[in-house]
Amino acid sequence: MNSLIIKNLSKTYENDTQALANVSLEINNGMFGLLGPNGAGKSTLMRTIAALQEPSSGSISFNGIDIVQNPRYIRENIGYLPQEFGVYPKISAYRLLDHLAVLKGIVDKKERHDQILYLLQQTNLLPHKDKAVHSFSGGMRQRFGIAQALLGNPKIIIVDEPTAGLDPEERNRFNNLLSEIGENIIVLLSTHIVEDVRDLCTNMAIISNGKLILEGQPNEAIASL
Ligand code: ADP
Ligand code: ADP
Repeated sequence: MNSLIIKNLSKTYENDTQALANVSLEINNGMFGLLGPNGAGKSTLMRTIAALQEPSSGSISFNGIDIVQNPRYIRENIGYLPQEFGVYPKISAYRLLDHLAVLKGIVDKKERHDQILYLLQQTNLLPHKDKAVHSFSGGMRQRFGIAQALLGNPKIIIVDEPTAGLDPEERNRFNNLLSEIGENIIVLLSTHIVEDVRDLCTNMAIISNGKLILEGQPNEAIASL
């Protein structure tokens, strides 16, 4: 079981914007939904958790290891689903994952191959492994993004506004995939779509203006809004 413990976390940017104010949360394996309007502080919280930026005060520990003192541990064990997909090189999905796996430091060829086939299978993309990702539909790209995020067996993944632009069937398929993944690791879902959190997450928090407004199980938390 993985455990992320956030204590009294605050972040004030150089321009005096306070993006996070005294946020405390405890997150374990499963899908955790972070809900809040634009500008609430969700990205700031995620970047801080990923040790991409330091908090102004407060602490975060992942599996007992302080991420400010020792950012390497979480960096080595976190995956991201990119919110925006850039331009893909004109190589197959398989080759692209293989390159990304090399960049992640998975040096053993057989290990990469087995992992890539497993992830393509899990994301239902195995029949498309030899096609270029830029030819994929939106839903396929999202699932490819998950395969990408899971390279190297992370213990936590961050998923930012994932279902934007997906049709209902693709959204369902994608959401089922996330739930499956959440059985083994922490899936941190940042979104402003209440339904995604209600349908998928075991726990959730709402932030607004950098402050934690509400925390709990979606049924109770959303009902109390
Ligand atoms: P969300 O992801 O919920 O939209 P953000 O964490 O991006 O929220 O932003 C929270 C607040 O912090 C906003 O007021 C935003 O303008 C501000 N902010 C975010 N990043 C920076 C930055 N690098 N420098 C200054 N202000 C920032
Ligand atoms: P390289 O040219 O990088 O040495 P190879 O073409 O020799 O790579 O392939 C190495 C291994 O990677 C192959 O034995 C195969 O198992 C696997 N492989 C390469 N491309 C694919 C693919 N499109 N689908 C499945 N497996 C592949």
